[in-house]
Amino acid sequence: MDAEVIVVGAGPTGLMLANELALAGVDALVVERLAERSGQSKALNLQPRSAQILDMRGMLQPLVERAIVSLSRSHFAGLSIDYRPLGENQLGIRQARVEECLETRLISTPLRAGRG
Ligand SMILES: Cc1cc2nc3c(=O)[nH]c(=O)nc-3n(C[C@H](O)[C@H](O)[C@H](O)COP(=O)(O)OP(=O)(O)OC[C@H]3O[C@@H](n4cnc5c(N)ncnc54)[C@H](O)[C@@H]3O)c2cc1C
Repeated sequence: MDAEVIVVGAGPTGLMLANELALAGVDALVVERLAERSGQSKALNLQPRSAQILDMRGMLQPLVERAIVSLSRSHFAGLSIDYRPLGENQLGIRQARVEECLETRLISTPLRAGRG
């Protein structure tokens, strides 16, 4: 494999990292052991700070469109959280949908993605 950086795993972490590298003009290669996405989701929501960062990159709107719900109160690690003072909501969105959006964005950049 010929790349400046090899990102192992096309989950949310790997895909976001690859998007950031692409933005910085780094020649990166993403490898994923699954030939196809399972469609299963461990994460079911997006915390406000994650949404803010994605918004800064112009990547939030497709996620908002795919969100099932927007919550002003929720929990993190079992602790109740009220997001209203932040003026932000937690988005209820399946991890699989987030991965699709991040991958679509990545494919639209001159970065290579590999599976298998
Ligand atoms: C039961 C459960 C519930 C959760 N609920 C929530 C929630 O409600 N909200 C929330 O925000 N988070 C939740 N999480 C956490 C969330 O799922 C993780 O933070 C998120 O999946 C991390 O993303 P990731 O990309 O680091 O890892 P992953 O999603 O695990 O993705 C890793 C990817 O790397 C690939 N891979 C692994 N090893 C290799 C290899 N050697 N070569 C090539 N590819 C490889 C895998 O196939 C996979 O596609 C939950 C987690 C669990 C387990």
